[in-house]
Amino acid sequence: MKLFTIFGDPVSHSRSPLMHNSVFKRYNIDACYTRTHLSDGLSLRDVFFAQALSGANVTVPHKEAAYALCDEVRGIAKHIGAVNTLVLEEGRLIGYNTDADGFIAALQSFGSLSNALIVGAGGTARALATVLRQNSITPTILNRSENRLDYFKENNFSSYTWETFPFASYDVIINTTSAGLSDEELPLPSSLLTELLSGAKCAVDVIYGRATPFLREVKKVNIPYKDGSDMLLEQGILANYLFIGGKISFDEIRTAMAKTFLF
Ligand code: NDP
Repeated sequence: MKLFTIFGDPVSHSRSPLMHNSVFKRYNIDACYTRTHLSDGLSLRDVFFAQALSGANVTVPHKEAAYALCDEVRGIAKHIGAVNTLVLEEGRLIGYNTDADGFIAALQSFGSLSNALIVGAGGTARALATVLRQNSITPTILNRSENRLDYFKENNFSSYTWETFPFASYDVIINTTSAGLSDEELPLPSSLLTELLSGAKCAVDVIYGRATPFLREVKKVNIPYKDGSDMLLEQGILANYLFIGGKISFDEIRTAMAKTFLF
């Protein structure tokens, strides 16, 4: 039996086991997907091999650590510097980032957008900034603290802290912070968020399955919005395809996985 897991801290909220196991069950694939709570990202590689895994997903806060421990990184993950999918290939750990394309697929329902404000500067923000720019949607990054902005500055993205941010309007406001994931915090000061939302066409919180404080503010201004469920589904479809070596099609994976979102 092939074994897969998701590494994270926290990880108990993750829907990934349900999503991937539904595909394995539907298509009689001899595999099982679990959760692994991991507080030390530097131990990820050792734990991966100790558990004899064939692949894994990586969530908050270990995506940058995962990138650093791969034997090879492929595709857009090379530009992002963060990995959310690991696949064992002939004893080597191969890293991918399926968050980026998963997000773009989820954004399609909003129609045409020309610019975006990404709130947060972690691994998910890197993925979204890179793929938005590739898709001709200009991203600006706004983060609580300065430290994580280096990557964005080095890669010529406009990036600011709350203190340096010059106010402007954006078509879409995207929360990529973990504020609201397991607390009741807003990802940026309330007055600034209200002003940003009043000039926006739509909003996305990448956190899923929870009415976060961010989404509660979005609902007040009556613009189209979505949580992270669509992105989760899309990144999961791409990851599952990599896990099982393309033996079943994207549409077949989608059919089995989407059913787990009906509950
Ligand atoms: P990281 O740990 O890499 O980055 C976290 C970011 O959140 C940092 O910029 C940090 O700012 C900011 N932050 C944390 N707490 C607060 C707060 N209270 N107020 C303001 N900013 C805060 O996380 P990831 O990028 O890996 O993941 C972020 C979120 O995205 C998680 O909630 C994760 O579950 C979700 N996600 C959802 C996906 C989906 O498929 N729907 C896919 C990928 C991620 P600072 O630098 O100042 O510390």
